[in-house]
Amino acid sequence: MSPRVLGPGATIGVLGGGQLGRMMAVAARQMGYRVMVLDPSPRCPTAQLADGVVVGALDDREAARALARQVDVITLDTEHVHADVLEALEPIAPVRPGASVLRTIQDRLVQKQFLDQLGLPQARWAPVDDIHTALAQVGRPAIVKVRRAGYDGKGQVRIGPDGDAEALIAALRGEPAVAEEVVGFAREISVILARGMDGAIAIYPIAENVHRRHILHTTRAPAPMTALSRSQAESIAVTVAEALGHVGVIAVEMFELPDGRLLVNEIAPRTHNSGHYTYGACATSQFEQHIRAVCGVPLGDPRALTGAVMVNLIGDLWSQGVPDWREVLALPEARLHLYGKDTPAPGRKMGHVVLLDDDTDQALATAEMLIATLAARS
Ligand code: ADP
Ligand code: MG
Repeated sequence: MSPRVLGPGATIGVLGGGQLGRMMAVAARQMGYRVMVLDPSPRCPTAQLADGVVVGALDDREAARALARQVDVITLDTEHVHADVLEALEPIAPVRPGASVLRTIQDRLVQKQFLDQLGLPQARWAPVDDIHTALAQVGRPAIVKVRRAGYDGKGQVRIGPDGDAEALIAALRGEPAVAEEVVGFAREISVILARGMDGAIAIYPIAENVHRRHILHTTRAPAPMTALSRSQAESIAVTVAEALGHVGVIAVEMFELPDGRLLVNEIAPRTHNSGHYTYGACATSQFEQHIRAVCGVPLGDPRALTGAVMVNLIGDLWSQGVPDWREVLALPEARLHLYGKDTPAPGRKMGHVVLLDDDTDQALATAEMLIATLAARS
């Protein structure tokens, strides 16, 4: 193995201790790596599975440096760690993906400019300096999104065909934002791929995603789409990963229009909720793949062994306490994942279920039935 390769036994540092870090830690430890995490909570989902935790905020440079000194490579559970913090760590330990990738991604305005420069298709968009000028550019209805730190639809406001736009965006408290036209998509998809340090690329079967209240509800893979659309979507995602010089797993979310055209919605330079199905359905999960990529180990086979549907378990299901998992556990094709979060809140991702079934129409129906049963008791 070349000296740049970090083999099993090496220590991986994860910035942010959410469920993505948790599932990375499971994969890493299975392969004999050690895992250290930086998070404000010593009981965060990743810390429960890690070898060690440095307690500190993600923008606490001293805490981040303390983590960096104890690890062989640093990676991320979230794209919201400030690129300046990552840059400060690069002299101490390799950071993958690097600070420059995060600098491009974590500001929606910069991300959109990057996509425009690559000539990749997007919804009409405009920076919001004055809301009326922005709406004149993108039209109404529109969605206004804060440039930084949004997720699961947080930091987004929809502006309908009429109504007082200024009053509506007051909810964003003057945060810098961008406006987008509302896209009448036929469906949403995501392409998840991994890129290694040597430039090798492994692409997962494309996921078809349904959102509810701007939060991912279900993913089906493979997405039923034509070979032509599939190869166009893959080629867009590869272009993005290569232009960024990305190392690790990356997800590119896209809208597919009724006429088949694809628009890039957003880029997440990390493992992704719509790739949870790979853990169970694919020869190499996105989590193992990410660990392999950031350690410089050859990528694993992304091939699907079965069709799959993933459904998220959102905190609303906990309103009467921990749900009764009987129906989920009774299904032989269902894999239950819970993230070990102490405080369920409405809209918070608490876990998910993956249904392993080549008949993904049937699996989607089962997923809806499970959620309806759980919701009826909550
Ligand atoms: P995040 O996932 O960071 O919260 P997104 O920009 O992906 O933010 O928005 C979340 C969801 O909201 C999208 O997956 C999509 O369902 C919906 N959405 C976002 N932007 C648009 C748009 N321009 N047109 C239509 N739907 C949108
Ligand atoms: Mg999104």
